Amino acid sequence: MKTLYLSDRQEDILKAAEILQNDGIAAIPTETVYGLAGNALKGSCVKKIFEAKGRPSDNPLIVHISDISQWAPLVKAIPENAMALAEKYWPGPLTMILPKSDIIPDEICGGLDTVAVRMPRSETARAIINACGFPLAAPSANTSGKPSPTTAQHVKADLDGRVNAIVDGGECSVGIESTVISLAGDVPRLLRPGGITPQMLNEVLGETEIDDAVYNKLADGAVAASPGMKYKHYSPEAKVIIIKGSFEGYKGYIEQNAGQGDVALCFEEEVNALPLKCITYGRRDDPSSQAKHIFDALRQVDKEKAKTVFARFPEKEGIGLAVFNRLVRAAGFNIIEL
Ligand code: AMP
Ligand code: MG
Repeated sequence: MKTLYLSDRQEDILKAAEILQNDGIAAIPTETVYGLAGNALKGSCVKKIFEAKGRPSDNPLIVHISDISQWAPLVKAIPENAMALAEKYWPGPLTMILPKSDIIPDEICGGLDTVAVRMPRSETARAIINACGFPLAAPSANTSGKPSPTTAQHVKADLDGRVNAIVDGGECSVGIESTVISLAGDVPRLLRPGGITPQMLNEVLGETEIDDAVYNKLADGAVAASPGMKYKHYSPEAKVIIIKGSFEGYKGYIEQNAGQGDVALCFEEEVNALPLKCITYGRRDDPSSQAKHIFDALRQVDKEKAKTVFARFPEKEGIGLAVFNRLVRAAGFNIIEL
C-alpha cells in the first residue's frame, strides 16, 4: 500500500481520522512514543495492526481514549483507586489494566480477560481520537522487536508501505512508553515502568507492588503478567553490554576491551573523554533527557553498523527505572558489574 504522509494541522488530523473511520491504520504521535492506531472496537482493524508490526498475537494492545467518559464502556467497573489515578495523571503516560467489557474485541487482549486503557497527553492524539468518535488501539508504531519510534522518521523507516498514513507531530516529549499498572488483582501491580514513576503512583495508592519482570529476565517457562515483557525488545542488531560502575571504570573497561567498529553508548558530557565512536542518550544526571533519547540512540547504533555497544548504566531513580528497564532488554540482560 502507499503510505500517506500527514502533518499535525487540523485538516490533516481530519484526514487521519477519515482513514481510521474507513477501517485503515495510521501511525500517530503521542507524548510517549508514536502509536500505530486502528479502531479499537473492530477486531478486523486490530488484526491489521498486528500484521503491520509483525507483533505476536498474544501480546495485547493499549486502548487510547480522549475523554474519561469513554472509559466505563470498555471495562467491567472502574474501582475507586483507578479513578483517583485517572484524575491525577490523565491525560498522561499512565496505562491502567482492568477486567474488560464485552465490547472489547478478543484480538486486543491476546486471550486475556482484561484491557489496558490510557488517555494520552498529546493534543494531536486526542484530537484524532475525538474526530474518529471511537477509541483507538495503538501499540508502538515500530516493527516488533525494534526500538520504539519517537519521531515520524523512525516510523517511516519501519512501516513505510505497511500502514495507510503517518502523522508527523515532531519528537515525542517523554520518549519512552507509558507506565502500565494492573488494577485487576487484589493489589495494584506495576507491570512496566514509564513516565509516571512508582513514587507518583504511591502518592495516590499508598503502595504498589513492582512486578519482578520490571527488573529481571523472566525465567524460562514463566507466565508474564504483561506478555510484552517476555519478548526480546528494543534491540539493535549489535550486541549491547551494559557496564555498571563509575565513569573511570567504564572508560578503563572500554580501553581494554573495545575493538574496531565498536561504539560507546554514553552520556552527553562524556563524549570527548572516550577513545571510540560515541552515541549519547541524554545527560548524566537527567533521567528525563535519557528517556527522551534512548530509543533514537539505539536506532543510531544500527546505522553505525556497530558490532559491540558498551552502554553506561542508568540510575534507576524516577523515570530512570523505565530507562533501565528498556536498556536491559535491549542488552538481553547482559550487564557487567565492575
Ligand atoms: P506497546 O503498546 O507496544 O507499548 O505495548 C503494550 C504493553 O502493555 C505490552 O507490554 C503489553 O504486554 C501490555 N499490556 C497491554 N494490555 C495488557 C493486559 N490486558 N494485561 C497485561 N499487559 C497488557
Ligand atoms: Mg511496543
